[in-house]
Amino acid sequence: MITTKGEIGELFEAVSDRLDGVIPVYMIGGGALIAKGIKDHTKDVDLVVTDDDTYNTLTKAILETGFEAKIPETIYGRLNLSNIFIKDSQRIDLFSGRVCGKLMLSDSMIRRAEPLGRFGKIDLYICSLEDILLFKCITDRLGDYNDCVKICISGIRWDEFLEEAVSQSRGEKEIWITYVSERLTDIASEGFHIPILDSIQRMEEEYLERWSGSLLRRQASKASGKKARIIRSSCKGCHECVELCPSEAIFFEDGGACIDPDRCTGCGSCVTICRFDAIILRT
Ligand code: SF4
Ligand code: SF4
Repeated sequence: MITTKGEIGELFEAVSDRLDGVIPVYMIGGGALIAKGIKDHTKDVDLVVTDDDTYNTLTKAILETGFEAKIPETIYGRLNLSNIFIKDSQRIDLFSGRVCGKLMLSDSMIRRAEPLGRFGKIDLYICSLEDILLFKCITDRLGDYNDCVKICISGIRWDEFLEEAVSQSRGEKEIWITYVSERLTDIASEGFHIPILDSIQRMEEEYLERWSGSLLRRQASKASGKKARIIRSSCKGCHECVELCPSEAIFFEDGGACIDPDRCTGCGSCVTICRFDAIILRT
């Protein structure tokens, strides 16, 4: 259990002793709420780093301070990089770029984050309350709902929250908008005024309409017996298709995406998500 900013500092100083160079780390969960004076204790410290190299460096340092990883390496190596580290009553949830495979730590979130200080070789930033709320709306651990309520009570720039939600909405990955809508609707049902609730609910409706259309397309595509193929020269290695594929048919080799034809069901989701037109469906 972490209860003070000082304890957050001690945790990072200990991890930092195992690092060779300075790295930026962004805090989004309970630890961030302690630092902002909204919460008085937390079991989880949620951290996001911007890239996989930093993720791997920090993971190694966390393990060397005696934390144990909850997810075996072989599993997270194929999925969006994230892991949970446990030591006594402390828990660190670490994400690389994207939280729970959904929302990104975007450039605008990075610009809004406040520096908390340098702890050894860790430059620690706290995300804005608006961005912490957005991340907390998509997680459903014990206490997340109450944290969302506390953040709302403390005062939110709702226009910024909405702007970020709109800018991150794209393609078929918008399922998180349904979690955000559900969470805010629940909070509003307790009498809390959320001025952008109508806009969020509209985004959810649009997502659900598109989803039902793409479900029909997917069924037609599966029935055609086609499989996805990667055009390696067009692949930019963004990993988005890997995270999306419901059949875990996409993996990385030599910096590019590859498809296991035995696992691919030809649903076509990866073709839709790839911004670089690097995936096609073929018989
Ligand atoms: S195939 Fe497209 S979505 Fe997949 S990693 Fe390459 S560029 Fe990204
Ligand atoms: S077509 Fe569907 S199953 Fe096949 S690789 Fe793409 S997302 Fe995965």
